[in-house]
Amino acid sequence: MENYTRCSRCILPNSLKSITLDENGVCNYCLQYEKDFSIWNEIAPRKLVEFERIIHSAKKLKRPYDCLIPLSGGKDSTFVLYLCDKIYNLKCLAVTFDNGYLTKPARNNIKNALKSSSADHVFYQINKTNSQKLFKTFVIKTGDFCNACMCGINYSIEIATKMFNIPLIIKGSGRRVQYVSQIKEVSSLNTPSYFANIIKGEKSEPHFKHFARNKFALELQKIVGGISDILKMSRKNLLRYIPQHILLYDYFYKPYPEIVEILKRDMGWNDYENSVEHLDCELRDIQFFLNTLKIPNITKYTFHNSGLIRQGILSREKALLIEEKELNNNPPPQELFEFLGDISITYEDYKKFVVNSDKTKYEPKFQKVVRSIYHNLRKL
Ligand SMILES: [Zn+2]
Repeated sequence: MENYTRCSRCILPNSLKSITLDENGVCNYCLQYEKDFSIWNEIAPRKLVEFERIIHSAKKLKRPYDCLIPLSGGKDSTFVLYLCDKIYNLKCLAVTFDNGYLTKPARNNIKNALKSSSADHVFYQINKTNSQKLFKTFVIKTGDFCNACMCGINYSIEIATKMFNIPLIIKGSGRRVQYVSQIKEVSSLNTPSYFANIIKGEKSEPHFKHFARNKFALELQKIVGGISDILKMSRKNLLRYIPQHILLYDYFYKPYPEIVEILKRDMGWNDYENSVEHLDCELRDIQFFLNTLKIPNITKYTFHNSGLIRQGILSREKALLIEEKELNNNPPPQELFEFLGDISITYEDYKKFVVNSDKTKYEPKFQKVVRSIYHNLRKL
């Protein structure tokens, strides 16, 4: 194994292209986190007031539903439902996108969450044969099929929002917990235009082009939301005119062990042997594994555990022990072989697609510039 060092605070190795270490050996990701969240305790009351203003404005519109919650059966989306339904008494519609690989535990969690709340629910299920065609296109062209689902999830949100004229969409995410997507070399632009560029001319196009049908309107909505964040304008004023997408943990944060406890107690939620993260998709481990093919000296836990260290939930020593064990033993997950069988691709070819493909070819340049400006200017 080649020589490398790790950030002295988290465990990111300097074999990551996007990493820089300061004179104390602390990485740019830890420094950014410190810059963003060291003042959290001071701003938390203001963020909570802001959150409550937004939901109050949504309620005042008296639409069929006050808010839409994309519900995957994982802990974060279930927590959004808990908060909106039980604490704030919003009229909630939950929407679930099933790519054909939604797990049984996730289905059970969704069923229990609905039983424990008064939310209505829309289930949008893609025929598995069709989603396999779509995933195959994505694997061959980009080495990565998760983005295909992101577009599917966004489409399910779009249709449910339109159908019921819903003013507010609350997602179980936030900058603090975007463990992987913040790492520059593994994140990609998840816009409908990116999706449309990838499926263009492919067998999957006739089945899925509607996912990106309103790409310009959706991207414009996103830009308007971004500008209001940068200018620190409240989203509550925009709700009436444009549906607003907000990330819960940017307004309201609890460390995940506390969340899990609440969900087990009040939402019938189960973490199924502590597989707390991403228990919703049968293909989840493939996504973590594929990064280890591309980037030297990382394991499927490196990004996630680095995030937990920053949040103070995991000690660096413990994370290093896990790394050491995993670096010496990193077999491909069993689901990968089943999945590759489903889409008729060999493991050797899969590895070539993961390592050699260039996602950036499909990313509209203008959108990348806009995203980077937004990431540099946004404030909590
Ligand atoms: Zn670090």
